[in-house]
Amino acid sequence: MRFHRTVTAICSALLSMTAHPVYATPEQALVPGGIAIVNVENYTPGTRITFDSRKTTIFKQGDSWYALAGIPLKAKSGEYSFEIKQPDGTTRIRKIDIKHKKYQEQRLTIKNKRKVNPNLEDMARISKERVRKREAKNHWSETYPDVDFIWPVSGQISSIFGLRRFFNEQERNPHSGLDIAAPEGTDIQVTADGTVIETGDFFFSGNMVYVDHGQGLISLYAHLSRIDVKPGDVLRRGDILGAVGQTGRVTGAHLHFAVLANGVLVDPRYFLSSEQPAAQFTESGKNQAGSPDGGSNYADSQ
Ligand SMILES: [Zn+2]
Repeated sequence: MRFHRTVTAICSALLSMTAHPVYATPEQALVPGGIAIVNVENYTPGTRITFDSRKTTIFKQGDSWYALAGIPLKAKSGEYSFEIKQPDGTTRIRKIDIKHKKYQEQRLTIKNKRKVNPNLEDMARISKERVRKREAKNHWSETYPDVDFIWPVSGQISSIFGLRRFFNEQERNPHSGLDIAAPEGTDIQVTADGTVIETGDFFFSGNMVYVDHGQGLISLYAHLSRIDVKPGDVLRRGDILGAVGQTGRVTGAHLHFAVLANGVLVDPRYFLSSEQPAAQFTESGKNQAGSPDGGSNYADSQ
């Protein structure tokens, strides 16, 4: 993939000069929270590819086909394999090595204590929402995804993926996405072509949108101030799906952007260009990108 990445970087540089979105191709990272990618020679539809027993995402880039698998944050280091089973029954094994990665800690203070220690009523709501979230996370469609993701908003990264999270000194799940600080009301663009599969107001995530890109590749957008789409809507990369807000368990306005590969949450940065798009300006001329008043600790619960 390195070759593709170099080509993409050059294309991105050219594109950014003309103020087009900055594309990227996924970058392999053989660590917990990363992604594994293998080239699949002579791919034919009907080939079944699994990684650690989970079905992988299959995508095409140029004339080549690839299988992509999310590596769970809890994965232990060691040898893993892709199993490529062709329609005629022939099976090939491709081995990879997953290395250890240490994630840092983050400590946040949440003023609304119910968001850290929910009451019984909240718990009932959370368990119902968990079912909806699980269904959205494991959604599968056969469409081959476009993996050239764009940044959904521009802004300061206020929290990275994988941090061990302590809310009011109590440990909770690690951070499962990328937090991008931006003023409330900033439009959010869908990262790639896809279909909306779930929207709603969730206890921790606030207003949230899930988009299916195909083959188990799903993006989600949380803490929105408004949602502009509904399940079933077909989106083109760059379409606006809602706006940045501070709903749910947050310390300030930002977008929590997450990517799932076959039900596994992975670091979205492996799908994004290291370069963000140029700042966007509203009609009033206010800079929507960056976050001069955003603070660096605007983060959330996810
Ligand atoms: Zn977040």
